Amino acid sequence: MSTLIYLDNNATTMVAPEVFEAMRPFFVERYGNPSSMHTFGGSVGKEVRRARESLANLLGASPQEIVFTSGGTESDSTAIFSALETMPERREIVTTRVEHPAVLNLCRHLGRKGYFVKWLTVDKNGNLDMDEVRSKITDNTAVVSVMWANNETGVIFPVNEVADVAQEHGALMHTDGVQVIGKIDVNLNSTNINFLSLSAHKFHGPKGIGALYIKKGTRFAPFIIGGHQESSRRGGTENVPGIIGLGEAAGLAAENLEEERVKVKGMRDRLQEGLLKTVPHAKINGDVDNRLPNTLNIGFEFVEGEAILMRLDDKGICASSGSACTSGSLEPSHVLRAMGVPFTAVHGSIRFSLSRYNTKEQIDTVVKEAPGIIEFLRAMSPFGPENLQSICTVH
Ligand code: PLP
Repeated sequence: MSTLIYLDNNATTMVAPEVFEAMRPFFVERYGNPSSMHTFGGSVGKEVRRARESLANLLGASPQEIVFTSGGTESDSTAIFSALETMPERREIVTTRVEHPAVLNLCRHLGRKGYFVKWLTVDKNGNLDMDEVRSKITDNTAVVSVMWANNETGVIFPVNEVADVAQEHGALMHTDGVQVIGKIDVNLNSTNINFLSLSAHKFHGPKGIGALYIKKGTRFAPFIIGGHQESSRRGGTENVPGIIGLGEAAGLAAENLEEERVKVKGMRDRLQEGLLKTVPHAKINGDVDNRLPNTLNIGFEFVEGEAILMRLDDKGICASSGSACTSGSLEPSHVLRAMGVPFTAVHGSIRFSLSRYNTKEQIDTVVKEAPGIIEFLRAMSPFGPENLQSICTVH
Protein backbone atom coordinates (compact mmCIF):
# COMPACT_ATOMS: atom_id res chain seq x y z
CA MET A 1 0.00 0.00 0.00
CA SER A 2 1.21 3.49 -0.75
CA THR A 3 1.89 5.79 2.21
CA LEU A 4 -1.07 6.70 4.32
CA ILE A 5 -3.02 9.87 3.63
CA TYR A 6 -5.18 10.30 6.71
CA LEU A 7 -8.13 12.60 6.08
CA ASP A 8 -10.46 11.30 8.79
CA ASN A 9 -9.52 13.57 11.67
CA ASN A 10 -13.10 14.19 12.79
CA ALA A 11 -13.23 10.47 13.64
CA THR A 12 -9.97 10.49 15.55
CA THR A 13 -6.53 12.07 15.34
CA MET A 14 -2.94 10.98 15.64
CA VAL A 15 -1.55 11.42 19.14
CA ALA A 16 0.98 14.25 18.84
CA PRO A 17 4.55 12.99 19.53
CA GLU A 18 4.89 15.60 22.32
CA VAL A 19 1.71 14.26 23.92
CA PHE A 20 2.98 10.68 23.80
CA GLU A 21 6.31 11.72 25.35
CA ALA A 22 4.54 13.65 28.12
CA MET A 23 2.40 10.60 28.97
CA ARG A 24 5.16 8.00 28.92
CA PRO A 25 6.59 8.48 32.48
CA PHE A 26 3.15 8.13 34.03
CA PHE A 27 2.88 4.46 33.04
CA VAL A 28 6.08 3.07 34.53
CA GLU A 29 8.00 5.59 36.64
CA ARG A 30 5.34 7.85 38.07
CA TYR A 31 2.43 5.45 38.52
CA GLY A 32 1.34 6.78 41.92
CA ASN A 33 -2.29 7.46 42.73
CA PRO A 34 -2.86 11.23 42.81
CA SER A 35 -5.14 10.82 45.86
CA SER A 36 -2.38 9.15 47.95
CA MET A 37 -0.92 10.94 50.98
CA HIS A 38 2.71 10.04 50.13
CA THR A 39 4.97 12.25 48.07
CA PHE A 40 5.17 9.66 45.26
CA GLY A 41 1.43 9.93 44.63
CA GLY A 42 1.14 13.59 45.63
CA SER A 43 3.68 14.64 43.00
CA VAL A 44 1.46 13.02 40.38
CA GLY A 45 -1.46 15.02 41.79
CA LYS A 46 0.52 18.19 41.02
CA GLU A 47 0.85 17.14 37.37
CA VAL A 48 -2.88 16.45 37.18
CA ARG A 49 -3.46 19.99 38.47
CA ARG A 50 -1.15 21.35 35.76
CA ALA A 51 -3.08 19.47 33.08
CA ARG A 52 -6.34 20.87 34.43
CA GLU A 53 -4.90 24.40 34.27
CA SER A 54 -3.71 23.86 30.70
CA LEU A 55 -7.18 22.76 29.57
CA ALA A 56 -8.88 25.57 31.50
CA ASN A 57 -6.57 28.04 29.78
CA LEU A 58 -7.56 26.72 26.34
CA LEU A 59 -11.26 27.08 27.18
CA GLY A 60 -11.15 30.47 28.91
CA ALA A 61 -12.37 28.73 32.05
CA SER A 62 -11.05 28.24 35.57
CA PRO A 63 -9.52 24.90 36.66
CA GLN A 64 -12.35 24.31 39.16
CA GLU A 65 -14.78 24.27 36.24
CA ILE A 66 -13.13 21.18 34.67
CA VAL A 67 -14.09 17.57 35.45
CA PHE A 68 -12.11 14.83 33.70
CA THR A 69 -14.21 12.03 32.18
CA SER A 70 -13.64 9.09 29.84
CA GLY A 71 -14.50 11.14 26.75
CA GLY A 72 -17.17 12.95 24.80
CA THR A 73 -19.92 10.39 25.29
CA GLU A 74 -19.59 10.29 29.07
CA SER A 75 -19.43 14.09 29.24
CA ASP A 76 -22.62 14.39 27.17
CA SER A 77 -24.48 11.91 29.40
CA THR A 78 -23.15 13.54 32.57
CA ALA A 79 -24.34 17.02 31.55
CA ILE A 80 -27.80 15.99 30.40
CA PHE A 81 -28.53 13.63 33.31
CA SER A 82 -27.25 16.24 35.76
CA ALA A 83 -29.58 18.92 34.37
CA LEU A 84 -32.57 16.58 34.58
CA GLU A 85 -31.71 15.49 38.11
CA THR A 86 -31.17 18.99 39.46
CA MET A 87 -34.38 20.32 37.88
CA PRO A 88 -36.86 17.47 38.42
CA GLU A 89 -39.86 19.76 38.03
CA ARG A 90 -38.91 20.44 34.37
CA ARG A 91 -39.58 17.65 31.88
CA GLU A 92 -38.54 19.16 28.53
CA ILE A 93 -35.29 18.68 26.61
CA VAL A 94 -34.49 20.76 23.53
CA THR A 95 -31.91 19.41 21.10
CA THR A 96 -31.23 19.16 17.35
CA ARG A 97 -31.87 16.47 14.78
CA VAL A 98 -28.20 16.49 13.79
CA GLU A 99 -26.47 15.71 17.08
CA HIS A 100 -23.86 12.99 17.37
CA PRO A 101 -25.37 9.66 18.54
CA ALA A 102 -23.92 10.39 22.02
CA VAL A 103 -26.65 13.02 22.44
CA LEU A 104 -29.18 11.88 19.83
CA ASN A 105 -29.62 8.36 21.17
CA LEU A 106 -29.56 9.53 24.79
CA CYS A 107 -32.39 12.00 24.06
CA ARG A 108 -34.37 9.30 22.20
CA HIS A 109 -33.91 7.08 25.26
CA LEU A 110 -35.06 9.86 27.59
CA GLY A 111 -38.07 10.42 25.33
CA ARG A 112 -39.05 6.78 25.86
CA LYS A 113 -38.62 7.30 29.63
CA GLY A 114 -41.26 10.05 29.66
CA TYR A 115 -39.30 13.25 28.98
CA PHE A 116 -40.66 15.53 26.26
CA VAL A 117 -37.93 15.99 23.64
CA LYS A 118 -38.24 18.92 21.23
CA TRP A 119 -36.13 18.47 18.09
CA LEU A 120 -34.72 21.53 16.34
CA THR A 121 -34.48 21.28 12.55
CA VAL A 122 -31.75 22.58 10.25
CA ASP A 123 -32.04 24.21 6.83
CA LYS A 124 -30.53 22.93 3.59
CA ASN A 125 -27.15 24.39 4.55
CA GLY A 126 -27.21 22.70 7.93
CA ASN A 127 -27.87 25.91 9.89
CA LEU A 128 -30.22 26.34 12.85
CA ASP A 129 -33.16 28.76 12.78
CA MET A 130 -32.97 31.03 15.84
CA ASP A 131 -36.71 31.77 15.62
CA GLU A 132 -37.37 28.06 16.03
CA VAL A 133 -34.88 27.97 18.93
CA ARG A 134 -36.77 30.82 20.64
CA SER A 135 -40.13 29.16 20.07
CA LYS A 136 -39.10 25.74 21.40
CA ILE A 137 -37.30 26.72 24.62
CA THR A 138 -39.84 27.35 27.40
CA ASP A 139 -40.00 27.72 31.18
CA ASN A 140 -40.47 23.92 31.32
CA THR A 141 -37.17 23.23 29.56
CA ALA A 142 -34.59 21.63 31.84
CA VAL A 143 -31.75 21.44 29.34
CA VAL A 144 -30.91 22.66 25.87
CA SER A 145 -28.27 20.50 24.18
CA VAL A 146 -26.94 21.93 20.92
CA MET A 147 -23.60 20.85 19.48
CA TRP A 148 -21.07 23.61 18.75
CA ALA A 149 -20.05 22.16 15.39
CA ASN A 150 -21.36 19.21 13.46
CA ASN A 151 -19.00 16.27 13.10
CA GLU A 152 -20.20 15.37 9.58
CA THR A 153 -20.52 18.75 7.85
CA GLY A 154 -18.46 20.98 10.15
CA VAL A 155 -21.32 23.52 10.28
CA ILE A 156 -20.99 25.76 13.34
CA PHE A 157 -24.03 26.56 15.49
CA PRO A 158 -24.54 29.90 17.31
CA VAL A 159 -24.34 28.25 20.73
CA ASN A 160 -23.72 31.49 22.62
CA GLU A 161 -26.99 32.94 21.32
CA VAL A 162 -28.82 29.69 22.08
CA ALA A 163 -27.37 29.79 25.60
CA ASP A 164 -28.74 33.31 26.10
CA VAL A 165 -32.24 32.11 25.19
CA ALA A 166 -31.89 29.11 27.52
CA GLN A 167 -30.84 31.39 30.34
CA GLU A 168 -33.84 33.70 29.83
CA HIS A 169 -36.02 30.67 30.56
CA GLY A 170 -33.96 29.36 33.48
CA ALA A 171 -32.91 26.29 31.45
CA LEU A 172 -29.38 24.87 31.52
CA MET A 173 -27.32 25.00 28.33
CA HIS A 174 -25.13 22.09 27.27
CA THR A 175 -23.00 22.07 24.15
CA ASP A 176 -21.19 19.12 22.65
CA GLY A 177 -17.93 20.89 21.84
CA VAL A 178 -16.06 17.73 20.81
CA GLN A 179 -15.42 18.94 17.25
CA VAL A 180 -14.44 22.55 17.95
CA ILE A 181 -11.55 22.15 20.37
CA GLY A 182 -8.29 23.09 18.69
CA LYS A 183 -10.13 24.21 15.54
CA ILE A 184 -11.80 27.49 16.50
CA ASP A 185 -11.62 29.94 19.43
CA VAL A 186 -13.51 28.84 22.50
CA ASN A 187 -13.82 31.32 25.34
CA LEU A 188 -16.36 30.18 27.86
CA ASN A 189 -15.66 32.93 30.32
CA SER A 190 -18.18 35.36 28.91
CA THR A 191 -20.94 32.95 27.82
CA ASN A 192 -24.09 31.50 29.37
CA ILE A 193 -23.00 27.96 28.50
CA ASN A 194 -23.34 25.77 31.60
CA PHE A 195 -21.78 22.57 30.26
CA LEU A 196 -19.33 21.81 27.43
CA SER A 197 -18.20 18.29 26.47
CA LEU A 198 -14.84 17.56 24.89
CA SER A 199 -12.70 14.57 23.99
CA ALA A 200 -8.90 14.45 23.78
CA HIS A 201 -8.65 12.07 20.82
CA LYS A 202 -10.19 14.67 18.51
CA PHE A 203 -7.30 17.10 19.03
CA HIS A 204 -4.18 14.94 19.03
CA GLY A 205 -4.61 13.59 22.55
CA PRO A 206 -5.21 9.97 23.58
CA LYS A 207 -8.48 8.04 23.40
CA GLY A 208 -10.56 7.31 26.50
CA ILE A 209 -10.09 10.69 28.16
CA GLY A 210 -12.17 13.82 27.95
CA ALA A 211 -13.61 16.51 30.11
CA LEU A 212 -16.80 18.27 31.03
CA TYR A 213 -16.72 22.01 31.65
CA ILE A 214 -19.23 22.93 34.34
CA LYS A 215 -19.77 26.66 34.73
CA LYS A 216 -19.22 27.92 38.26
CA GLY A 217 -22.55 28.15 40.11
CA THR A 218 -24.28 25.48 37.95
CA ARG A 219 -26.16 22.93 40.02
CA PHE A 220 -24.59 19.53 39.44
CA ALA A 221 -25.33 15.88 40.16
CA PRO A 222 -22.58 13.34 39.37
CA PHE A 223 -23.16 10.64 36.77
CA ILE A 224 -20.54 8.24 38.12
CA ILE A 225 -20.93 8.06 41.86
CA GLY A 226 -18.05 6.71 43.90
CA GLY A 227 -14.99 8.16 45.61
CA HIS A 228 -14.12 11.80 46.15
CA GLN A 229 -12.07 12.22 42.98
CA GLU A 230 -12.69 15.30 40.86
CA SER A 231 -14.09 17.12 43.92
CA SER A 232 -16.77 14.41 44.28
CA ARG A 233 -18.06 15.16 40.80
CA ARG A 234 -16.79 11.97 39.11
CA GLY A 235 -15.84 8.87 41.09
CA GLY A 236 -13.03 6.56 40.03
CA THR A 237 -9.23 6.68 40.14
CA GLU A 238 -8.06 9.25 37.63
CA ASN A 239 -6.75 8.10 34.25
CA VAL A 240 -3.47 9.88 34.96
CA PRO A 241 -1.59 9.23 31.67
CA GLY A 242 -4.75 10.23 29.80
CA ILE A 243 -5.13 13.43 31.80
CA ILE A 244 -1.48 14.33 31.27
CA GLY A 245 -1.93 13.68 27.54
CA LEU A 246 -5.08 15.79 27.45
CA GLY A 247 -3.29 18.65 29.22
CA GLU A 248 -0.38 18.51 26.77
CA ALA A 249 -2.74 18.32 23.77
CA ALA A 250 -4.63 21.35 25.12
CA GLY A 251 -1.38 23.31 25.38
CA LEU A 252 -0.45 22.38 21.80
CA ALA A 253 -3.95 23.25 20.59
CA ALA A 254 -3.64 26.72 22.12
CA GLU A 255 -0.27 27.18 20.40
CA ASN A 256 -1.42 25.83 17.03
CA LEU A 257 -4.87 27.39 16.77
CA GLU A 258 -3.80 30.02 14.25
CA GLU A 259 -1.95 27.42 12.13
CA GLU A 260 -5.01 25.16 12.24
CA ARG A 261 -7.12 28.03 11.01
CA VAL A 262 -4.86 29.24 8.22
CA LYS A 263 -2.82 26.22 7.05
CA VAL A 264 -5.49 23.59 7.50
CA LYS A 265 -8.21 25.77 5.99
CA GLY A 266 -5.91 26.47 3.03
CA MET A 267 -5.46 22.75 2.38
CA ARG A 268 -9.19 22.06 2.86
CA ASP A 269 -10.05 24.78 0.33
CA ARG A 270 -7.45 23.43 -2.11
CA LEU A 271 -9.06 19.98 -1.86
CA GLN A 272 -12.53 21.45 -2.29
CA GLU A 273 -11.61 23.52 -5.34
CA GLY A 274 -9.67 20.65 -6.88
CA LEU A 275 -12.57 18.22 -6.55
CA LEU A 276 -15.25 20.66 -7.67
CA LYS A 277 -13.19 21.50 -10.75
CA THR A 278 -12.49 17.93 -11.80
CA VAL A 279 -15.57 15.94 -10.77
CA PRO A 280 -18.90 16.75 -12.39
CA HIS A 281 -22.08 16.54 -10.26
CA ALA A 282 -20.26 17.24 -6.99
CA LYS A 283 -21.83 19.42 -4.32
CA ILE A 284 -20.66 20.66 -0.93
CA ASN A 285 -22.85 19.64 1.99
CA GLY A 286 -23.05 22.35 4.66
CA ASP A 287 -22.71 26.13 4.77
CA VAL A 288 -19.43 26.93 3.00
CA ASP A 289 -19.06 30.19 4.94
CA ASN A 290 -19.84 28.78 8.37
CA ARG A 291 -17.81 25.61 8.75
CA LEU A 292 -14.91 24.22 10.72
CA PRO A 293 -11.67 25.02 8.87
CA ASN A 294 -10.72 21.34 8.56
CA THR A 295 -13.92 19.76 7.26
CA LEU A 296 -15.14 19.11 3.72
CA ASN A 297 -18.32 17.10 3.20
CA ILE A 298 -18.91 16.60 -0.49
CA GLY A 299 -21.65 14.68 -2.27
CA PHE A 300 -20.72 12.89 -5.48
CA GLU A 301 -24.09 12.29 -7.08
CA PHE A 302 -25.11 8.95 -8.57
CA VAL A 303 -22.45 6.85 -6.89
CA GLU A 304 -22.17 4.92 -3.59
CA GLY A 305 -20.02 6.53 -0.90
CA GLU A 306 -18.88 3.15 0.41
CA ALA A 307 -17.55 2.18 -3.02
CA ILE A 308 -15.63 5.47 -3.23
CA LEU A 309 -14.19 4.91 0.24
CA MET A 310 -13.01 1.41 -0.61
CA ARG A 311 -11.22 2.59 -3.72
CA LEU A 312 -9.69 5.54 -1.90
CA ASP A 313 -8.61 3.06 0.78
CA ASP A 314 -6.84 0.98 -1.90
CA LYS A 315 -4.76 4.11 -2.61
CA GLY A 316 -4.01 4.59 1.11
CA ILE A 317 -6.46 7.48 1.47
CA CYS A 318 -8.65 7.44 4.61
CA ALA A 319 -11.89 9.38 4.57
CA SER A 320 -15.36 8.69 5.85
CA SER A 321 -18.95 8.51 4.67
CA GLY A 322 -20.92 10.09 7.48
CA SER A 323 -19.99 9.52 11.10
CA ALA A 324 -17.50 6.72 11.85
CA CYS A 325 -19.73 5.63 14.72
CA THR A 326 -22.54 4.75 12.32
CA SER A 327 -20.41 3.23 9.58
CA GLY A 328 -21.14 -0.43 9.24
CA SER A 329 -24.78 0.43 8.74
CA LEU A 330 -25.85 1.41 5.26
CA GLU A 331 -28.38 3.87 6.67
CA PRO A 332 -27.89 7.23 5.02
CA SER A 333 -26.56 9.95 7.31
CA HIS A 334 -29.22 11.42 9.64
CA VAL A 335 -27.45 14.77 9.35
CA LEU A 336 -27.66 14.95 5.55
CA ARG A 337 -31.24 13.70 5.61
CA ALA A 338 -32.17 16.42 8.14
CA MET A 339 -30.69 18.95 5.68
CA GLY A 340 -32.85 17.55 2.88
CA VAL A 341 -29.86 16.54 0.72
CA PRO A 342 -31.34 14.60 -2.25
CA PHE A 343 -30.95 10.84 -2.05
CA THR A 344 -28.79 10.84 -5.18
CA ALA A 345 -26.16 12.82 -3.25
CA VAL A 346 -26.64 11.51 0.32
CA HIS A 347 -25.40 8.06 -0.63
CA GLY A 348 -22.33 9.41 -2.40
CA SER A 349 -21.29 11.85 0.31
CA ILE A 350 -17.76 11.72 1.63
CA ARG A 351 -16.31 13.54 4.59
CA PHE A 352 -12.70 14.62 4.37
CA SER A 353 -11.39 16.02 7.65
CA LEU A 354 -7.86 17.38 7.85
CA SER A 355 -5.31 18.13 10.54
CA ARG A 356 -2.10 20.10 10.83
CA TYR A 357 -0.19 16.90 10.06
CA ASN A 358 -1.49 16.80 6.48
CA THR A 359 0.51 18.26 3.61
CA LYS A 360 -0.30 20.03 0.36
CA GLU A 361 1.26 17.11 -1.53
CA GLN A 362 -1.21 14.72 0.09
CA ILE A 363 -4.11 16.93 -0.92
CA ASP A 364 -2.82 17.02 -4.49
CA THR A 365 -2.64 13.22 -4.53
CA VAL A 366 -6.31 13.01 -3.52
CA VAL A 367 -7.29 15.54 -6.18
CA LYS A 368 -5.37 13.43 -8.71
CA GLU A 369 -6.86 10.06 -7.67
CA ALA A 370 -10.49 10.85 -6.80
CA PRO A 371 -11.87 11.93 -10.21
CA GLY A 372 -10.81 8.67 -11.89
CA ILE A 373 -12.35 6.61 -9.09
CA ILE A 374 -15.68 8.39 -9.33
CA GLU A 375 -15.74 8.29 -13.10
CA PHE A 376 -15.04 4.56 -13.02
CA LEU A 377 -17.77 3.88 -10.45
CA ARG A 378 -20.31 5.97 -12.30
CA ALA A 379 -19.60 4.09 -15.49
CA MET A 380 -20.24 0.80 -13.65
CA SER A 381 -23.36 1.98 -11.88
CA PRO A 382 -26.94 1.54 -13.12
CA PHE A 383 -27.15 5.21 -12.14
CA GLY A 384 -24.27 5.97 -14.53
CA PRO A 385 -23.91 9.11 -16.59
CA GLU A 386 -26.13 7.85 -19.40
CA ASN A 387 -28.99 7.67 -16.87
CA LEU A 388 -28.27 10.96 -15.12
CA GLN A 389 -30.92 12.85 -17.03
CA SER A 390 -33.78 10.53 -16.13
CA ILE A 391 -32.78 10.46 -12.45
CA CYS A 392 -32.37 14.23 -12.35
CA THR A 393 -35.91 14.73 -13.61
CA VAL A 394 -37.34 12.54 -10.81
CA HIS A 395 -35.84 14.88 -8.18
N1 PLP B 1 -19.69 14.16 20.06
C1 PLP B 1 -19.20 14.39 18.83
C2 PLP B 1 -19.65 15.61 18.09
C3 PLP B 1 -18.28 13.51 18.26
O1 PLP B 1 -17.80 13.75 17.03
C4 PLP B 1 -17.88 12.38 19.00
C5 PLP B 1 -16.94 11.37 18.40
O2 PLP B 1 -17.07 11.01 17.25
C6 PLP B 1 -18.41 12.18 20.29
C7 PLP B 1 -19.30 13.09 20.78
C8 PLP B 1 -18.01 11.00 21.13
O3 PLP B 1 -16.77 11.22 21.74
P1 PLP B 1 -15.97 10.00 22.40
O4 PLP B 1 -15.50 9.15 21.28
O5 PLP B 1 -14.85 10.64 23.14
O6 PLP B 1 -16.92 9.31 23.33
